[in-house]
Amino acid sequence: MSKQIYWLILIIFALSLLVAACAPQAVPVPQVGSVNDESEPATVSAGEVQAGEAEPAPAQEADPTEAAPVEPGPTAAPMEQSAPEKADIASSPTAESAPAVQCTAPAALTPSQTEGPYYTPNTPERTSLVEDGMPGTRLVLEGYVLSADCQPIAGAWIDFWQADASGVYDNQGYTLRGHQYSDERGAYRLETVVPGEYPGRTPHIHVKVQAPGGPVLTTQVYFPGASGNQVDRIFNPAMLVQVESQGEQRIEARFDFVIAP
Ligand code: FE
Repeated sequence: MSKQIYWLILIIFALSLLVAACAPQAVPVPQVGSVNDESEPATVSAGEVQAGEAEPAPAQEADPTEAAPVEPGPTAAPMEQSAPEKADIASSPTAESAPAVQCTAPAALTPSQTEGPYYTPNTPERTSLVEDGMPGTRLVLEGYVLSADCQPIAGAWIDFWQADASGVYDNQGYTLRGHQYSDERGAYRLETVVPGEYPGRTPHIHVKVQAPGGPVLTTQVYFPGASGNQVDRIFNPAMLVQVESQGEQRIEARFDFVIAP
């Protein structure tokens, strides 16, 4: 009896050696291939996934090159996990930076605010309001113009005006006044200085935004942490910009406008 078991074990052992000798060539080849195939598109679409994330893109300067090739819409790289209700337009081939879109449909329309007494029409078209020798902390404000369903609005007219770092408006000329148009991704970028406060008003930047053929939204944006926010009766916390980075000389912030198309 025990001799039979002994032979049986010996035969099984011999058979398993035989199988093991044949198997290894077949197993690893398809695995290595398929792992590589999956991981390549996964890294590409990672930048795109940021579009739906609540957190800001970690390295703004580095973003454009990384995210640039990713286009919104049907031609985007394969991506199983894209949330349907979130906008998917994190990149730009042209803009210097490409913040991720932060929008969940249906998005609330950006509230309007009073125009105030210092608006001047027919401003020059420009993305930088900074002039040589202009005092103040440099501010880069960027973001998107979106519809309530989080779609980018290209060609939207965006007209900014503001006080200088001392809280003074140029009501004769066009200092710190200028308009621009959102690009094909709905993105805009403004270079300016942080406005100063003036009596009764916390630091703010006035803006008018209009989709092509749409109504004009007139509003103002504010800065988190400004002491005047507490006592300014026009201040609306919904209009606070999101500060992405803050140095002594330069602040980068973003704000997305959601407007009627
Ligand atoms: Fe003002």
